[in-house]
Amino acid sequence: MTKQIHRHVLNLGAGVQSTTVYLMYVASEIQPAIECAVFADTGEEPETIYRHLDWLRSLNGPPIVTVSTGKLGDDLQRGRNSTGQRFASIPAYTAAREGHKIGIVRRQCTREYKIEPIERYIRAELLGMARGQRVPNGITVFQSYGISMDEAGRSIRIRDRLADRHWLTPVFPLLDRQMTRGDCYQWLQRFGVPHEVQKSACVFCPFKSNAEWRRMRDTDPESWARAVEIDNALRVPGNVVNRNLDQKLYVHVSCVPLEKAVLGPDDDPRQYYLGLNWTAECAGMCGV
Ligand code: SF4
Repeated sequence: MTKQIHRHVLNLGAGVQSTTVYLMYVASEIQPAIECAVFADTGEEPETIYRHLDWLRSLNGPPIVTVSTGKLGDDLQRGRNSTGQRFASIPAYTAAREGHKIGIVRRQCTREYKIEPIERYIRAELLGMARGQRVPNGITVFQSYGISMDEAGRSIRIRDRLADRHWLTPVFPLLDRQMTRGDCYQWLQRFGVPHEVQKSACVFCPFKSNAEWRRMRDTDPESWARAVEIDNALRVPGNVVNRNLDQKLYVHVSCVPLEKAVLGPDDDPRQYYLGLNWTAECAGMCGV
């Protein structure tokens, strides 16, 4: 009979839900324990997320491993992806002319900068598999995700994505406990997190509400400057990012350059959630 080996890891996005799950492991509220939490760093999170990660590490809980495949914004500007090939597109909005939105670019960044680096880490570092080597039968990696009740649909997409990986099984501790994002906030408060845990996402991620853009502009000038820089780069004529596209690309849903965009107060979530149930952080899979 094949010997069964079980390994346990967490996809840590460092936002509200996955932080709650991580701290539940720290508090031994979830069993069995994880060996590590893996944070996929696009290099483009706001400084508060990196400080929050430092704080999480200071608790001396399960090790937090950072994996990275490059700085997403730099790769976008250079017009190439992490492996030096075609760039990985972010879900930018498209317009024939300024202010007239037509659609959205297909999102490749999540897979290239989050999903794949985490899976590569699990295969190579955790399981010691060589490139292309088949994971032997009997080995199962239980991968925890911080998916809450308000975005339960994401769990179905994750299960679908992992259907062909016999060795990888997703686990959803917040769904098992029927916890919402609001419940997570309460849990974090009870735990005693000494700062506000924020949504994690690239500073220029187009899946932002006006309230989020406003907050960044008013409280985090460094992130705002980077978001404006990348937004402007998307429209530099001849940039590989927009080559062969008749339409212009924008990070703000109004399809106006971010530095000129009117940021509310009207804020219709349907404009940017786009049916993706994007209510929370990337969490190592950005809405899939
Ligand atoms: S946060 Fe947004 S831009 Fe960054 S990887 Fe996820 S979907 Fe892409």
